[in-house]
Amino acid sequence: MKMLPTVISNLFSKPATRNYPFEVREPFEHARGELVNDIDRCIFCGMCQRKCPSLCITVSKEGTTGTWTLDSFSCIGCGICVDNCPVSCLKQQPNHRPVTAVRGDIVLTGKLPEKPAKKTEKAPAQ
Ligand code: SF4
Ligand code: SF4
Repeated sequence: MKMLPTVISNLFSKPATRNYPFEVREPFEHARGELVNDIDRCIFCGMCQRKCPSLCITVSKEGTTGTWTLDSFSCIGCGICVDNCPVSCLKQQPNHRPVTAVRGDIVLTGKLPEKPAKKTEKAPAQ
């Protein structure tokens, strides 16, 4: 009987939760959400892979092509990769990725930066 007022109040009040994904909350300012990579600027240095505490980034190189792979389901949104990227091509958007029923990696490919030409050794002075 003691709980009756609470039960009645809960029956006629709005739920505290949202009917996500049909009702999406506006993101907070500076929220760290979806991780995106501007792959045309990525130099495939692998720094994000080395720094990620969740081991969810894989960077590989083959020939002139680089591949950046993100297991976004393992990403905890810490932003360490963003802070350590030397060319600032990683960004966290305030929104979260749309919901999906299929688990899959995000795979981006790009062109590896050209290596600087090797310096030719000077001929010894005679
Ligand atoms: S740290 Fe930045 S430049 Fe290096 S591989 Fe990751 S995203 Fe690319
Ligand atoms: S935000 Fe954190 S967990 Fe997600 S990929 Fe970057 S370093 Fe890894």
